[in-house]
Amino acid sequence: MAEAPQKPLLRVVMCSPRGFCAGVVRAIESVERALAIYGAPVYVRHEIVHNRYVVESLKAKGAIFVEDLAEVPDDGAPVIFSAHGVPRSIPEEAAKRGLFALDATCPLVTKVHREAEIHFRRGREIVLIGHAGHPEVVGTMGQLPAGAITLVQSLADVERFVPRDDGNLAYVTQTTLSVEDTGTMVEALKARFPNIVGPHKEDICYATTNRQAAVKRVAPIVDAMIVVGAPNSSNSQRLKEVAERAGCPRAILVQRGADIDWGFFDGVTSIGVTAGASAPEVLVEEVLGAFADRYALEIETVSAAEEDMFFPLPRPLREEQAAE
Ligand code: SF4
Repeated sequence: MAEAPQKPLLRVVMCSPRGFCAGVVRAIESVERALAIYGAPVYVRHEIVHNRYVVESLKAKGAIFVEDLAEVPDDGAPVIFSAHGVPRSIPEEAAKRGLFALDATCPLVTKVHREAEIHFRRGREIVLIGHAGHPEVVGTMGQLPAGAITLVQSLADVERFVPRDDGNLAYVTQTTLSVEDTGTMVEALKARFPNIVGPHKEDICYATTNRQAAVKRVAPIVDAMIVVGAPNSSNSQRLKEVAERAGCPRAILVQRGADIDWGFFDGVTSIGVTAGASAPEVLVEEVLGAFADRYALEIETVSAAEEDMFFPLPRPLREEQAAE
């Protein structure tokens, strides 16, 4: 019998940390816990986290995803707000209708909401560095009356920005931005408005920072970088950009093992692998499995940080848990 041809060798460098962050774990557990306590259906406003696999798995367990509170019936079923946060009008509307709302907004996003509120109370005009249309940006801007926050997305926006009073300004940022780009925009804001106040560093969260730091280390030493994550996941998109900028000749976002465009990896002898904060490790394993079908893998890990962040579940779920 003829021997099977030997698979080509592929060096695989795993980025650490990668994948789920504490805010995503909390959000997913909130839905699972609510399903276990109250039974199906549990309504979830917006994708609980930006990952189709996660959303489909929760749908299979009885979660119903809606974009509008109007789609939630007044029958006592819980409605959960996603990790990205919501404008203030949403919990207000839920309270007015007597809906049983559970807020799975990541505590690090809530922290940005509180910062913005404090600046507003102190009479400051607020600049938000972020991406238009992202639910986190919609949620942060929706904490305050229209006009209180101006969104800037680029250096050009910073240059164009005309404040009402340039001596009374503050800035906040989206949590999932590129550390480097945001640093540059903050510098530009400070150069134009030396008295602008802001957070100690910026509001980019620990998970975004650590995942980008790991990619920066791995990108220059591999032929291609794979980011397991969804196209609508801001932090996954940033990881791909960071890899490209850190000198990786090819970087690609992959959602599932079956989606891999093998032509992209022609001639590649080493790959780096990371995952966005909303991508489960099971999908990383699936992607590695697809590579293992074609290559003999030599796997190593490069670590940029240790993580032990944990956020407790929203209070009503914690209390139910304690009462059991
Ligand atoms: S990426 Fe950061 S801000 Fe977003 S859910 Fe995770 S920990 Fe929270």
